[in-house]
Amino acid sequence: SSTSLLTPGFEIDPIVKSESPKNIVFVTSEVAPWSKTGGLADVCGSLPQALVARGHRVMVIAPRYLNGTKSDKLYEGAFDTCVKSKLGCFEGLQEVGYFHQIKNGVDYVFVDHPSYHRAGSLYSDVTNKTYGDNQFRYTLLAHAACEAPLVLPFENTGGRYGDDVVFVANDWHAGLVPLLVASKYRPHNVYGNARTICAIHNIAHQGVEPNTTFPNLGVPGEWYSALEYQYPEWMRAHELDEGKVVNILKGAIATSDRVLTVSEGYAYEITTPEGGKGLEGLLAARSHRLNGVANGIDLEEWNPSDDKDCAAPYSILDFSGKLECKRALQREMGLPERDDVPVLGFIGRLDWQKGPDLIRDALGALMNEDCQVIMLGSGLTELEEWMKWAEGQYPDRFRGWVGFSIPMAHRITAGVDIFLMPSRFEPCGLNQLYSMRYGTLPVAHATGGLRDTIKQHNPFADISKPEEVGEVGTGWLFDNMSTQDFIEATKWSIHVFKEKKDVWRAMQVQAMTQDLSWNKKAAEWEQIFDWAKVDPP
Ligand code: ADP
Repeated sequence: SSTSLLTPGFEIDPIVKSESPKNIVFVTSEVAPWSKTGGLADVCGSLPQALVARGHRVMVIAPRYLNGTKSDKLYEGAFDTCVKSKLGCFEGLQEVGYFHQIKNGVDYVFVDHPSYHRAGSLYSDVTNKTYGDNQFRYTLLAHAACEAPLVLPFENTGGRYGDDVVFVANDWHAGLVPLLVASKYRPHNVYGNARTICAIHNIAHQGVEPNTTFPNLGVPGEWYSALEYQYPEWMRAHELDEGKVVNILKGAIATSDRVLTVSEGYAYEITTPEGGKGLEGLLAARSHRLNGVANGIDLEEWNPSDDKDCAAPYSILDFSGKLECKRALQREMGLPERDDVPVLGFIGRLDWQKGPDLIRDALGALMNEDCQVIMLGSGLTELEEWMKWAEGQYPDRFRGWVGFSIPMAHRITAGVDIFLMPSRFEPCGLNQLYSMRYGTLPVAHATGGLRDTIKQHNPFADISKPEEVGEVGTGWLFDNMSTQDFIEATKWSIHVFKEKKDVWRAMQVQAMTQDLSWNKKAAEWEQIFDWAKVDPP
């Protein structure tokens, strides 16, 4: 269906079958819709389906998280394969089970173990404290994933995957997969033709624990140095601290056949001291095997002409539904229903990375502009409290919704005019892509995937000339991570919204007619898989 006119007035590239179809295994700590805290889940939910459409056989392996709430229902379609594996790690044999569900041709496999069944979120308990045993939980995931292609029979749907596969190990949670393939399987001629890709969605999380935990990981002892990481002296706690840890992401980068990140900009940034979080040297050394491919989006889930969460459909052929979405959002939020006032939105984790503190520091200046601001997110307590305070301060102009709600995210994406994304760093970022698809123009810090995917507004483009209208841009980027620059860029966007309605509309059309499909990105991932196959391990 992705070749159909998902957005009236605009058609995406046809789906082409791969000339060298592969068996591909994604290993991930989260996958939408079953488990999601961020963009990783969206990628692992959508990209595999796009790869299947292009002729590959694809399995996605994630934990079977149960927390005793209604979200457990999501797993009802996954059946127990009754296959068990005994995994050698943490001083013994750990037994896991596998559940299986086929959706849009993808084999979703959920690893079952009591440590994935607990109240709280994926990584932390109900009080927001990170679980103390995450190293254990994700060591299990990696070992279970290495066994799955060998042991799961899939009797009625094509049989075992076997050992000629391409593993995609996503972030540190799956980081032991390349290491285990290289150290435990290849020397015994299993996975001899397999290849491993380390996919980095966010280098801020590396899976670091004291090096005394190394024996737990089930990795042959002579491979210790692949995981060892030495902190510089200034970062050590006291003089007896030697600064030696095991760093799972480091091990994955060092031992995988290729490294992939979620934008070209980020692929470069992580080789620099500012962006590499200590792994820049290793990444620079492997830069001949390092690539960036920006994320795509699910065009059916995020479709302004057919979105069950929104008040009215719209497209580039008829924008009237967008105005209805805006009015409905203003009503829902208890803000004055005004068409002429620009509404600015933010959706995301309230943490240092996403820069919500810039919005806080800019709010006074923005409130002088006659605009409305709507924020949705949860995270740092001080920012959640600030949002409540700001609602009291600007009752007619500000709403801050503390929580995680996907339907609300859809309504905000459709209903606001301008999307704020002042991220300090952003490996790819999905919200700016969703926004552009909905004709909501982003104001963003020029970093990582934001710089790659948003085209800066060019005020000199003559939109009456067909050859120049493509230059008008899709948003506003500011270079310096400062409140002042953020305010300037936002004011510029407000100015165009209020004073240059035809330019605004031209920018919306540019934003909405980009091919942001996963199909296009899947073709780029295929290229990386092909290179991995040609490279010697
Ligand atoms: P990251 O993975 O760093 O959090 P991304 O922009 O790549 O950032 O992806 C974030 C994903 O999570 C998007 O799909 C976004 O809509 C969603 N999201 C983040 N916060 C919320 C929230 N409070 N409510 C609903 N969805 C959210």
